[in-house]
Amino acid sequence: MIDWSRVDTVLLDMDGTLLDLAFDNHFWLEALPARLARERRVSLEQARGHLFPLMKQVEGTLDWYCLDYWQDRLRVDLVQLKQETAHMIGFRPGAEAFLQALNRSGKRAVLVTNAHRGSLGLKLQRVPALEGYLDEAYSSHDFGVSKEFSDFWDGVQSKDGFEPGRTVLLDDSVRVLSAARDWGVPQVFGIAQPDLSRPPLSGAEFPLIVDFQRVVPRVRGVTAG
Ligand SMILES: [Mg+2]
Repeated sequence: MIDWSRVDTVLLDMDGTLLDLAFDNHFWLEALPARLARERRVSLEQARGHLFPLMKQVEGTLDWYCLDYWQDRLRVDLVQLKQETAHMIGFRPGAEAFLQALNRSGKRAVLVTNAHRGSLGLKLQRVPALEGYLDEAYSSHDFGVSKEFSDFWDGVQSKDGFEPGRTVLLDDSVRVLSAARDWGVPQVFGIAQPDLSRPPLSGAEFPLIVDFQRVVPRVRGVTAG
């Protein structure tokens, strides 16, 4: 479904696209509320009742993704807490073979993530193979604006130099896909099951990738990977 004849650069989201979102969901929905409950001697429900509205307020903005913001706000050592649950970080099925196929095909593989540099570092530490497949890796924190906004796409394009008309974006966030498409990325694809511990999504506004094996680029007439 990806028209590879019109692609030089593949823009790739990290969490929920290349890596299993189960880690992030577990961290924000389970591990962090549990830590808050323990430290503040309140029930888990009370901790969630405090945390979730704060998260809702900044959803989709850079603060949402910013470890420093949350450390200031909650006074919890998030990096330490993330380390404790880091065993859940890993590739989604087929993601590594897909990256290898991209490398063989000569398409550029460029990571574009809303992850804070601290989170990105932790993920690269747990999945060290990832970095080797990437031509570049950009965090929205370096541009001061999240991927949900066109300013991010202006910033990353001028830094990287990719030709907008010859890119494809793979990202599990509908808001990010919409922003990128409106900005000028001609091909955008979502992910059917960002979190392997949860059921797949359906009825999306964008075509969803179910299996990376089915969308690998072709090299000299044969399917790679
Ligand atoms: Mg994502």
